[in-house]
Amino acid sequence: MAQTKLSRGAEWRLERMLYRLEQGSLAINKLDDKVLRDLIKRAAISSHPDGFSSSSRLGDGGRGQSDSTPVESAAASREKPQRDELSKRVKHIESLITFIDVAAHEIHSNIGEIYRVEEEKAQRPVQTTPCLVCEAAPAEIAGYCRADYDVWRNYGNPDRLRWEMFKKQTTSVDGLLMVPKCPPPADGRSARRGPWKTGVQQDLTRSGSAL
Ligand SMILES: [Zn+2]
Repeated sequence: MAQTKLSRGAEWRLERMLYRLEQGSLAINKLDDKVLRDLIKRAAISSHPDGFSSSSRLGDGGRGQSDSTPVESAAASREKPQRDELSKRVKHIESLITFIDVAAHEIHSNIGEIYRVEEEKAQRPVQTTPCLVCEAAPAEIAGYCRADYDVWRNYGNPDRLRWEMFKKQTTSVDGLLMVPKCPPPADGRSARRGPWKTGVQQDLTRSGSAL
């Protein structure tokens, strides 16, 4: 992977993570079949009455059973029969090992998710708004797709709102067309197409005079 220039703070974060990973993998590598097999075996044996005292707790420095009075021991064994300290520790180790696996998977799935999102973002086309007339093609010029813009221009730039209603055949609540007829060209504009086409009248006049 290409080396990226990082800030001092980021470089320190990276160093810390790499250090943790190194320490972690060194520690994990020490946990092999032999070590775990031995632990399981010890836990199985210690579930017998002569195992560790049930009065000692995790992290209390391994207090021996001689510290507890016979009364305490009797009370403890009545409260938590068969709760052996060693097998509890082994179970704790077991869940921590599961934790390592879960954590590693969680890290990788998060990394994967980051790349997936980035990739999706890169592939997504630039956000476009649809054409106000056909509502399908992306708007390119003045809110219309190129084709609809050209048509609108050819009709002499009629009032946009009326033009859009006419083209979309927008109806009122009672089902009547809001703009049933093609709106006229804008002031100072002439239509090259449609019913307001200036040439239509001229053509008619011409053909009329020709007769
Ligand atoms: Zn369009």
